[in-house]
Amino acid sequence: MKEQTKFKVGKFLIPVTLTYEDKRIYVKFLYNRGLITEVKSMAGSKWHGRKEEPNPRKIWSVSNCARNLFQISYLKGENPYAPWDKDIIQQEYERELYTHQKAAIDFILARHYCELAADCGLGKTLDAIEVLERAKPVSAWYVAPKSALYAVQLEMKKWNCQGEFEFMTYHGLVSRTNNFTETSKVPQFLVIDEASKLKNPTTQRSQAAQIIADYIREEWGDEGFVLLMTGTPAPRSPLDWHSQTEICCPGFLKEGTQAKLKQTLAITEKCENPHGGSFYQLISWRDDVKKCNICGESADHDNHNPQILNSLDCVSGEDEDTWHGFVPSIDEVSRLHKRLEGLVLVQFKKDCLDLPDKIFRKIELPPTPQMLQVARTIIETSSTTIGGLTLLRELSDGFQYNKVSDGFETCPVCKGSKRTANPLYKVNCDDCPDREFQCREDRVCSAEDPTTICDGCGGQGHRKKYKRTTEEVECPKDEALRDLLDEYGEVGRVIVYGGFQGSVDRVIKICESCNWAWIRADGRGWSSNLDGDFLDNFQNKVIDIPRIAFVGQPGAAGYSLTLTASPVIIYYSNDFDAEHRMQSEERTHRIGMDTNRGCTIIDLLHLPTDYLILENLKQKRHLQSLTLGQIKESFDDKS
Ligand SMILES: [Zn+2]
Ligand SMILES: [Zn+2]
Ligand SMILES: [Zn+2]
Repeated sequence: MKEQTKFKVGKFLIPVTLTYEDKRIYVKFLYNRGLITEVKSMAGSKWHGRKEEPNPRKIWSVSNCARNLFQISYLKGENPYAPWDKDIIQQEYERELYTHQKAAIDFILARHYCELAADCGLGKTLDAIEVLERAKPVSAWYVAPKSALYAVQLEMKKWNCQGEFEFMTYHGLVSRTNNFTETSKVPQFLVIDEASKLKNPTTQRSQAAQIIADYIREEWGDEGFVLLMTGTPAPRSPLDWHSQTEICCPGFLKEGTQAKLKQTLAITEKCENPHGGSFYQLISWRDDVKKCNICGESADHDNHNPQILNSLDCVSGEDEDTWHGFVPSIDEVSRLHKRLEGLVLVQFKKDCLDLPDKIFRKIELPPTPQMLQVARTIIETSSTTIGGLTLLRELSDGFQYNKVSDGFETCPVCKGSKRTANPLYKVNCDDCPDREFQCREDRVCSAEDPTTICDGCGGQGHRKKYKRTTEEVECPKDEALRDLLDEYGEVGRVIVYGGFQGSVDRVIKICESCNWAWIRADGRGWSSNLDGDFLDNFQNKVIDIPRIAFVGQPGAAGYSLTLTASPVIIYYSNDFDAEHRMQSEERTHRIGMDTNRGCTIIDLLHLPTDYLILENLKQKRHLQSLTLGQIKESFDDKS
């Protein structure tokens, strides 16, 4: 099919011939620099004029896909953005809702295909419930990580929700999508919770979400709903928005790929890859108008000072081409948030709720010399950082493993092959379509060898086998916890997190010995020594149940739950995951908290590793990057 039309570029209307084929759209026009930029930013853009082409023609082509059609419609002067510019109608509400919740629900009901990016603790689940009840879809899916699903189901019960979701994990979504046939029913409403998990467009779950969202657009049009929800309104990389907005509305951002968005948002430098090809290295985000558009430095930087560079020239001629006049830049990162305004509703807790700051309290429990001695032995005999760190964390919680030698075994890590996959090597590199853009994102794929010497056996293929026997040893955290239970006895509600199931069991034993009831939520699921609805008991039955502790692992019980009856969160110990820590800290610091009582977060710190782990979690550093040397150092300071 051929179409004669005009594209609006800046102030000009440029005649364009579009030829639609099955997979491609050919775009023919007389040379125009602005229009070339537009076409280049589309997905799958290609210039057919190169000599290497089998049939060189002076013509561009782009992928024939929804996102490009959206942008073509825009260039033709139509307004595909209209549904996201529409006025938002304020609904009447029966439930008692916060102003920001009403704003969110109004927004979703007006937009249909959109994202709610609101700090956790702002009541997003209830927002989704209200939309479900008002939109009355024929069928609705709710996708979330397993740990969040249970909490959402509890909220549905709590709010007496008049509607039904079909719940599934991301894994469930992937298999549902793989098994989708022409007779399968397309849901009318899709909720994706923790949508930041879809930031990478190449993962199976992102692709599954994209496919189902596309089906909904096709089947239900403006009567369908695709709602993405994330608790990270300010992701660390602004590129994370790309794949999420593609699921909400393909083509809303004109940049066809994450890599093309990076070209807009960042100053990059083309680098040659030693084994062929090239890639774009990030120099600086365009997030400040005071940055130079060429080098990312400020106006008074030496890059913009000819004199200094001239004097350097005398020493070496290498800096010759560094000098350039300062070129002002546009703050594209802030502009991106503006561009997304119609599609993404951003809500920060500090703007929506008047919550008091969290109060952090550290209880330092000095280890005995014997304890430190055992810890040092663990460090010296550990072959891997994670293995050693895990034993030290357990020791710090009062668990000691005794290893008894028991012959040899084939290395379980490499299965005897002596080598394992190299984490620095990315398999995707070799076959990713946008290789020159996408590769080397964070200089991660610097390794050439896909395998490396096995960390589990040091390349031996076998290793000494040990029998492990666990022994519970005296731990000062126990006494500290008893004191805290006493301190909070009047309030009668505490949350205690432990990094291991063993720690959770230990905390529960202490609770029982202090006459506290308990609810347990960890990798084994939920249980309690009381009958009735767990959360109802905790949140509401203050008279009937004077003292009850919520005890869990941060990963299993850290998400989505509202536990505002407690003014305190006690970390008996942490796990490895900064996200778990961040999420679990929000259990009481949210809607419904007693603002006079505030929210106190207490860490019980025993062995030096407790301090090291806490510090790393706070800085969202990966504990995987810790070395045995650093761990050893933390103990040396303590001697
Ligand atoms: Zn510059
Ligand atoms: Zn091995
Ligand atoms: Zn790569």
